[in-house]
Amino acid sequence: MKDEIVDVTIIGGGPTGLFSTFYAGMRQMSVRLIDSLPELGGQLTELYPDKYIYDVGGFPKILAKDLVSNLVTQAQYAEPDLHLGETVQSYERKDDHFVLKTDQGEYLTRTILITAGVGAFQPRKIGLDNEADFEGISLQYAVRDLEKFRDQDVVVLGGGDSALDWALMLQELAKSVTLVHRRNRFTAHETSVQQVMDSPVEVKTSLNVTEIKGENGQIDELVLTAKDGTEEVIKADQLIVNFGNISSLGPLKEWGLELEKNSIKVNAHMETNILGIFAAGDITTFEGKVKLIATGFGEAPVAISYAKSFYDPKSRLQPKHSTSVFKQD
Ligand SMILES: Cc1cc2nc3c(=O)[nH]c(=O)nc-3n(C[C@H](O)[C@H](O)[C@H](O)COP(=O)(O)OP(=O)(O)OC[C@H]3O[C@@H](n4cnc5c(N)ncnc54)[C@H](O)[C@@H]3O)c2cc1C
Repeated sequence: MKDEIVDVTIIGGGPTGLFSTFYAGMRQMSVRLIDSLPELGGQLTELYPDKYIYDVGGFPKILAKDLVSNLVTQAQYAEPDLHLGETVQSYERKDDHFVLKTDQGEYLTRTILITAGVGAFQPRKIGLDNEADFEGISLQYAVRDLEKFRDQDVVVLGGGDSALDWALMLQELAKSVTLVHRRNRFTAHETSVQQVMDSPVEVKTSLNVTEIKGENGQIDELVLTAKDGTEEVIKADQLIVNFGNISSLGPLKEWGLELEKNSIKVNAHMETNILGIFAAGDITTFEGKVKLIATGFGEAPVAISYAKSFYDPKSRLQPKHSTSVFKQD
């Protein structure tokens, strides 16, 4: 497969990349999809799989993980050459195609569509030496499997919307939930703050976690320290660190793409400043840009149609409607 030149290689399997994959298939393009994460879905899978989304057209309310599952089903129509757990590093232009280099191999492609979202993202950590010993076992940066927290003493760190949402959601099934914030004011929406205050969640402010005690990956206790050095030790079976994410364009920064505040500048055709390289979704910026799932869905067909006309100038820019492409049964 590596030697085969595909029509488009899509970098990033979030909602924009997945919908672009389907659209490329509908436009009869061969497509390769690469994501550095082990699972498809981008931010929806990584950051909020169990949250309801309310602002995707046609879905009054849908769980992020269910939207991803629908998108994956839809993308399969294109029969993409799928590469997960593989990070795109660099590219080289040959006569009529690109050689795309990842940390695991080289791939040939006529066009490139970057749907890399906020870039390869990583959760912001507490910064304690032994933090990594507990990661994935009793220390999480996102809530993926609610059952993990059933009947557990859960501690949530953070003061933003996500931290408060998780605290509220988990108090229904956990044995106890304690919300610890390093400041005495929350950045979360005031209605969430009020809901937490009215709930059984125990709130502790102006405290930092300065030590994690436990062994074999299992947390036992946390040491919380105030500014004046006063310490408090609390019990914890599960710790959720919700300090947000650090995202970085990483290797894509070296491509010579025109950037504005870490986003790739595109024109109305979703073309970057490099011929044959397109971008869509959260990674892009242009006048009037809003970063939403719905806008990524709008940008995908534009990017794909212009990518097709880049290597096949005779192709129709305006796609046929799906109602005409597919059999009505
Ligand atoms: C907590 C939270 C709640 C949200 N709620 C909503 C909501 O209610 N409604 C809404 O519209 N939006 C919401 N959003 C925003 C929404 O998630 C984003 O707009 C959407 O995920 C953007 O999709 P995308 O496909 O462009 O990028 P992403 O979802 O970020 O996917 C990009 C993918 O590219 C991959 N990637 C990056 N660099 C590379 C590389 N070099 N090589 C290989 N792969 C790479 C990443 O691993 C990632 O999987 C929310 C975001 C958060 C954090």
